[in-house]
Amino acid sequence: MDFKKYVTVVENFPKEGIRFKDITTLMEDGEAYKKAIDKMVHFAQDKDIDIIVGPEARGFVVGCPVAYAMGKGFVPVRKAGKLPREVLEVDYGLEYGKDSLNIHKGSIRPGQRVLITDDLLATGGTIEATIKMVEKMGGIVAGIAFMIELSYLDGADRLQDYDVFTLMTY
Ligand code: IMP
Repeated sequence: MDFKKYVTVVENFPKEGIRFKDITTLMEDGEAYKKAIDKMVHFAQDKDIDIIVGPEARGFVVGCPVAYAMGKGFVPVRKAGKLPREVLEVDYGLEYGKDSLNIHKGSIRPGQRVLITDDLLATGGTIEATIKMVEKMGGIVAGIAFMIELSYLDGADRLQDYDVFTLMTY
C-alpha cells in the first residue's frame, strides 16, 4: 500500500517554512489506518514486547491500537501537568520549541521490554526524552516504531543504538 497517498502535507504549519505531515487523513481511512498499524505490529511481533509507550497526542493514536492488537498495556507520556500521579520528568528540545515530558513513576518495571511508538520522527528530541524516561525506570527499549521519518532532520542519528521501524520516509 502507498501510505503516503493518505498523508496530507500542509505548507507553513504551525510556522512559516514548515511542511507539516498530517496523518489525520490516513486515520480517516479505515483500511489505511489498519494496514499501517498491522505493519507496526508485525515489526514488534518477534521482540518479546511487554508494554508499549507513546508520547501525546499522536503517539497514542499509533501506540494504543498496536497495544490492543498485541494484547499488551499502554503507558502514556505527556506534557507537564497532565498526569495525575507522581511523575518522572525529562526536558527536551522540539523541532519548534522546548518543553518537558512526564511519565507516571512505576509505570514501567525494571527489565520490561518496551516498544516506543510515535507518528513522526523529526529531530528525535521527543523520542530521545521518552527513551531516557523508560531507561531511567529500568525498561529495555526493544523497538521504536514511527509512521513517518523526516530524514532531512537527521533524527535517526540519535537512535543508532536502537531497532527503529518507519513506514514512510520524507
Ligand atoms: P522531534 O522531537 O523533533 O522528533 O519531533 C517529533 C514530534 O513533533 C512528534 O511527536 C510529532 O508528533 C511532532 N511533529 C513534528 N513535525 C511534525 C509534522 O510535520 N507532522 C506531525 N507531527 C510533527
